[in-house]
Amino acid sequence: MIVGIDLGTTNSLVAVWRDGAPQLVANALGSFITPSVVGLDDDGQVLVGQVARERLQTHPQLTTSLFKRYMGSAHEVRLGKRSFRPEELSALVLKSLKADVERAFGEPVTEAVISVPAYFSDAQRKATRVAGELAGLKVDKLINEPTAAALAYGVHHKEETTFLVFDLGGGTFDVSILERFEGVMEVRASSGDNFLGGEDLDDALVQRFIERQQGAGLPDTSQPLLRHRLRREAQRVRHALGQDDSATFCLRDQDREWTEVFTQEQLRQALEPLLERLRAPIERALRDARIRVADLDEVLLVGGTTRMPLVRKLVAGLFGRFPSMHLNPDEVIAQGAAIQAALKARDAALEEVVLTDVCPYSMGIEITHQHGERMESGHYLPIIERNCVVPVSRVEQVQTLQDNQKHVLVKIFQGESRMVKDNIFLGELSVPVPPRKAGEVSLDIRFTYDNNGLLEADVSIPLTGENHRLVIENNPGVLSREEIDAKLKALAGLKIHPRDQQVNSMIMARLERLYQECLGEAREYVARLASDFQRVLDGQDERQIRELRVAVNERLDQLERGF
Ligand code: ADP
Ligand code: MG
Repeated sequence: MIVGIDLGTTNSLVAVWRDGAPQLVANALGSFITPSVVGLDDDGQVLVGQVARERLQTHPQLTTSLFKRYMGSAHEVRLGKRSFRPEELSALVLKSLKADVERAFGEPVTEAVISVPAYFSDAQRKATRVAGELAGLKVDKLINEPTAAALAYGVHHKEETTFLVFDLGGGTFDVSILERFEGVMEVRASSGDNFLGGEDLDDALVQRFIERQQGAGLPDTSQPLLRHRLRREAQRVRHALGQDDSATFCLRDQDREWTEVFTQEQLRQALEPLLERLRAPIERALRDARIRVADLDEVLLVGGTTRMPLVRKLVAGLFGRFPSMHLNPDEVIAQGAAIQAALKARDAALEEVVLTDVCPYSMGIEITHQHGERMESGHYLPIIERNCVVPVSRVEQVQTLQDNQKHVLVKIFQGESRMVKDNIFLGELSVPVPPRKAGEVSLDIRFTYDNNGLLEADVSIPLTGENHRLVIENNPGVLSREEIDAKLKALAGLKIHPRDQQVNSMIMARLERLYQECLGEAREYVARLASDFQRVLDGQDERQIRELRVAVNERLDQLERGF
């Protein structure tokens, strides 16, 4: 049986073709959405999805997310005693989805069509195929995410059409313009913003809440646990405003509480600067594809964040028409991948033309931000941004930081994260500079990137006319046949957390997280619930466990809503 898989940065989904239509398959917790989070449980067994996500906070050394951003690189992540390649982490997500389908239909899943972003490079595509192979799946075909969305919307039934796919997910915004012509689907342009998604909207809402509560005696909101709670609350409010006209943002700490009502209009004001940023990538894509808004036959909405009425309204305004949105935006890519799988089974797969002449990731340098007296190093300044057409050459200027500084160390990174520690280190260049007052020596840093993946960094100092150069041959880190075989063996040795225990593990993980988040009476309450639940679990009476599970979940929902 062939399945279609949306292997997302935040969430992954799987669909099959049944009775003439794509059908999503639920995971062990009954949800179509499996968070792309992988971890190890306390016994060293692999956990994937919601349970792992609950443990991101309580077990940061044993849990990881966002690994799609590292696909096609050799960046490894450590979980407990072992390091994992991004292909392996993706493989564990794929394995989990595969098991869900096998469980639902009682048939082995042998093959998959997996979706990838349109801008993925050859190396990133190869890594995705390897992930499939490591999960025991034959991946004959990858499909571009916007093409998959188009299939779900039935665009392949049209002879000729040009349309735009607007994909706003958890952490990224992708715009693609596609054209269907003479039976082939072509991605004409792709653009986006890697720092713009639902989670960034949550941060902005938290910020607004804190501003509004100035003088109300809020506790120190930079504490990690409080941050986490604020983010979670922001997400709840943002989702609630999908159905309701207003929602109350509530922070409780110890015995105090701070609340703030948000209407749609207040949400819009809080998010305005971010929503404004949706405009430029759209304009860029239209420009690159040499298409006017009026030439678009359709605008398709993709990604969980486009469920927000605010975003839909904004899109309608930008394009002067309502976007197509009769499908669930977070489900369309998996559905489209399943349609492609079905077409493939009949040897009628949709043909695609892939973009190859765009830069698949951003490249930049480490810089230090100055806040008054305080210096904060480790920030990322992208010089070449992903999606720009190659060959490309761009320059940024930086200044010295200290008085009489003798050298500037230019550290070069690739990636899409705000902090360089989360990006991939490519190389560095130590440049001598004439000693002057801080900020008086400027350096022009020019990056040139060509079609062969060669990055040239050129640093010049206008003051002295000196020039320094570093050429980085970008080794994309594709695994060799032998390495794949070795990884296959290693993965086969890993034990997977039993599927039928996931519902209970989910509650325990949630209890643990809340125990960590709460203090005082609330904490004692959580501790009592946890020991009650553990006792019933040990009793192994299925009915009792089920009943208590429902009760505990209800109480925890209440607790998270603010008791
Ligand atoms: P990705 O493509 O990044 O893997 P998704 O398309 O699944 O992710 O989008 C995840 C994002 O969608 C999250 O930030 C989440 O808050 C947001 N989201 C999901 N449902 C809703 C909703 N009902 N209202 C607003 N945002 C939502
Ligand atoms: Mg997505």
